[in-house]
This record gives sequence, structure tokens and C-alpha cells, in this order.
Amino acid sequence: MHNIENRLEAVQQRIQTACTECERSAAGVQLLAVSKTQPADAVRQAYNSGQLAFGENYLQEALDKQALLTDLPLQWHFIGPIQSNKTRPIAEHFDWVHSVDRFKIAQRLNDQRGTSKQPLQICIQVNIDQEASKAGVNPAEVLSLVQQVAELPNLRLRGLMAIPAAAAELASQRLAFEKVRKLLESLQRALPDQSLDTLSMGMSGDLEAAIYEGATIVRIGTDIFGPRQRK
Ligand SMILES: *Cc1c(COP(=O)(O)O)cnc(C)c1O
Repeated sequence: MHNIENRLEAVQQRIQTACTECERSAAGVQLLAVSKTQPADAVRQAYNSGQLAFGENYLQEALDKQALLTDLPLQWHFIGPIQSNKTRPIAEHFDWVHSVDRFKIAQRLNDQRGTSKQPLQICIQVNIDQEASKAGVNPAEVLSLVQQVAELPNLRLRGLMAIPAAAAELASQRLAFEKVRKLLESLQRALPDQSLDTLSMGMSGDLEAAIYEGATIVRIGTDIFGPRQRK
């Protein structure tokens, strides 16, 4: 029980320290607790320690968990790969989607979100190191996707999400995150009235590098909940 509370506090301290080191305000970095493979009870413990935003990768697992937690005012972020026949429950049961990487998915989320709810908050996932194995749009194609998504009325485009290739050294971690930041800056110049304000980047192993390069949402699983349960 105290484990999750202590780990959350330690992660918040790391965020605070990294922000101090690069003279940013910690208020500009949101902590997203990635609860995939963890039981609903672990989410409840994190909530009881003050955590409100949770990230999930697997749709059915997320829906099952949400059903056990309807008494809590949680904010849910979908951060996993999206199949086009699964967009409806994502549009209906989440507040944010970080993993949009093609227009067809955005269009379906827009249509299925409808007008009765707040717009769905969207990040475009970019395959920043252009790895064959990874999801995400190529950097060269991100502008045209962003221009199309920006037209969809039930979505609110917020920025970019990236999962760079794993790197042990701070310097190489920073290089990848710097590329994501520069890409967002180029989009901000191209679409000045979109107020693109979000860089979703940084996980347990590289949150400091991400914060130094401007992350506004860090997605942390292992360092809050411990090792993932096997699926
Ligand atoms: C699992 C996952 C995370 C969390 O990773 P940790 O290394 O456990 O902090 C963050 N983002 C995405 C997209 C993930 O799939």
C-alpha cells in the first residue's frame, strides 16, 4: 500500500529536480501514471495518493479496469496501438488519445466522439527514430497529417507523442527528444492558431532527458507500480 505512494512521491521528486535543473516550472509537466497490466486496486491506491491521470495500452483491459473505478474522477489516456475496428470505445471512454498515427483513425475517433462530450484531446504519435518495428507517423509526413486532423471538430489536437529508440546515455536520449521538440516547434509555426502545447515523451528510464527537452506529459509505469504483471 505505501509502496505506490512512496514510488509516486519519488517520481514527483525526480520531475521536480529535473525541472529545477533546466529552470522550468514543475507545474508545466503532467505526470501520467501508466497502469497497463496493473490491477484496478493499484490505480485506486495511486488515486488515494493524489494521482488523477492514468494511461492504458490495451483496450479491453482498460475498459474492465474503468468499470471497477467508476466512483473515482479519473482522467484516462489511451497510449497504445489502435486498430480501426476498436475506435468507438476509445472515443467514448477516454479523455486523451496519444497514439494517433493515421488519418483514418482520427476521422473515426472524431465521428464516434460526437458532439455531446468535450472534444477528445489528441497527440500525433511520431516515429522519431524511423524504426521499422515502431508505430507512429514518419517525421516527414507529420505536417500533412496534423493539418488534416486539425480540421476535425470533435478532436482537439494538442501536440506530439514519441517513444524514441532505447538509449542508455543521457546525451543520446536528449538528441531524440530534441528532434521531437523541434518538430513540434515547426508545427507551431505552420499552424499558429492551433495552440499546440503538448509534448508527450519520457518514461521511467528517460524522464529527465525528456523534461530537459520540453516534455509536458511524462508517461511513467514501472517506477510507480513496479514491474509489470505478465499478460
Ligand atoms: C508502457 C509504456 C510506458 C511506461 O513505460 P515505463 O518504462 O514502465 O515507465 C509509457 N509509454 C508507453 C506508450 C507505454 O507503452
